[in-house]
Amino acid sequence: GPIIVWFRNDLRIADNAALLKAAQSNQEVICLYILDEDADETTHYGGAQLWWLHHSLIALSKSLEAIGAELILKRGSPNKIIKSLIDDTGAQTVLWNRRYTTSHIKCDTELKCELTNDGIEVISFDGALLHEPTKLRTGSGGPYKVYTPFWRALSGMDEPRDPAPKPQALKPYSKTIKSDSLDDWALLPTKPDWSGGISDEWTPGEQGALERLDDFLDGPINDYKEGRDFPAKHDTSKLSPHLTFGEISPYQIWSEVNAKHGTHTPNKETFRKEVVWREFAYHLLVNFEDLKNKNYNSQFDDFPWHSSKKHLAAWQQGKTGYPIVDAGMRQLWQTGWMHNRVRMIVASFLVKHLLIDWREGEKWFWDTLVDADPASNTASWQWVAGSGADASPYFRIFNPILQGEKFDKLGTYVKLYCPELRDVPEKYIHKPWEAPEKILKNAGVTLGDTYPNPVVDHKTARERALAAYQTMRKST
Ligand code: FAD
Repeated sequence: GPIIVWFRNDLRIADNAALLKAAQSNQEVICLYILDEDADETTHYGGAQLWWLHHSLIALSKSLEAIGAELILKRGSPNKIIKSLIDDTGAQTVLWNRRYTTSHIKCDTELKCELTNDGIEVISFDGALLHEPTKLRTGSGGPYKVYTPFWRALSGMDEPRDPAPKPQALKPYSKTIKSDSLDDWALLPTKPDWSGGISDEWTPGEQGALERLDDFLDGPINDYKEGRDFPAKHDTSKLSPHLTFGEISPYQIWSEVNAKHGTHTPNKETFRKEVVWREFAYHLLVNFEDLKNKNYNSQFDDFPWHSSKKHLAAWQQGKTGYPIVDAGMRQLWQTGWMHNRVRMIVASFLVKHLLIDWREGEKWFWDTLVDADPASNTASWQWVAGSGADASPYFRIFNPILQGEKFDKLGTYVKLYCPELRDVPEKYIHKPWEAPEKILKNAGVTLGDTYPNPVVDHKTARERALAAYQTMRKST
């Protein structure tokens, strides 16, 4: 019988160990993608990612066609679909690359067990991470809770494997299998179609990913260590959504960085460390329970969060009156992505200035980010909130004005996403409420009308956050 290759978050044909194995077998191959109707809140895609998925599946279909195979689309419960495909085709082997959320691990383990009992061969491969997240252990045998020793341990291991070559040809399954039509899945937004800014910014698919990597390694990486903190610069790789969908693997990134930047440079080192933050997030996800819902540090279970619909909406819509926060939230809405420095600023603003539970922020990011990642998103939100592993302490509260002045001195980034502030002079761009009336008038700004007044006063909000933190500490 044929071999089934089940594609999941590995929408690429290069460095795809499962696909390569199928190609090398010389048997007929069925390439399958399932729109998973068993997905739970930790694994279903948000709106922005459904847009991405649609385009990424088109790209994958084309790449597979070029090597002789068709991508079969099915919607439903993966367990049932795979079993019925085996019944219909007499397939004897199922191959996939591993994935790591709790519910994915459960789904894959159960299916593997059931199929193996039925005499079907199931083989899983590595593809999403440089090292299996359960492999690294501290001296006492437990998982790492702190990044730096994790990084040191990882750096001390053998270099990650080389990427697997791209299969040159596949022997397609000779009979017809009915595939769903992608359009029937209706993954794209309609009424309203909010995806314009996202399509201007991104090219989903393997080709788009490789181009991003090339562009990054040809220039921005040389300024990465300094430049990566400045949102108006384009010094980061923007590989995150490609990595999340597995259009490129960390092995490919690692080996290209080594090939083009062989010598040990601070820029290369810093970039590798960031890629390893993603590994660390997966290490936490796999080794600790339910990071999406539960505070890693249970002291935070007693935190006196506020729930203000009005403040949450102001934050989501980029109308807090703090220009750097608003620019970030609008970049997210328009392009499906936000610069890392600004993610930290807006997240800190939500959980500290507005005292809103980090889970609200995590949810919003989940729905709007094209790179929403089950490990990195939760780990980062908990990191900012102070409830996470190796977290930034809660009492360290970002001042959104100073952050703006430090990392977007000229206001270039703010003006791009808050064009109503275009003519505000540099001196006031991060605190327009301090500008003299005449200056605002000349800039065409009326606070409370063309641009909001600050939803909270920085100093008051800071004191309120510190007081809330104190009550939590007293109650535990
Ligand atoms: P680069 O600077 O070019 O880094 C290269 C790669 O390293 C990234 O693509 C990413 O895979 C990884 N990486 C870099 N920084 C981090 C980090 N701090 N944590 C984990 N991995 C990292 N990243 C996501 O991929 N998905 C998310 O859902 C996500 N949510 C976040 C939420 C908050 C509140 C914060 C503060 C950060 C979040 N990040 C998330 C991490 C980081 O902001 C993005 O990975 C980064 O901005 C992506 O841009 P880039 O590809 O240009 O990064």
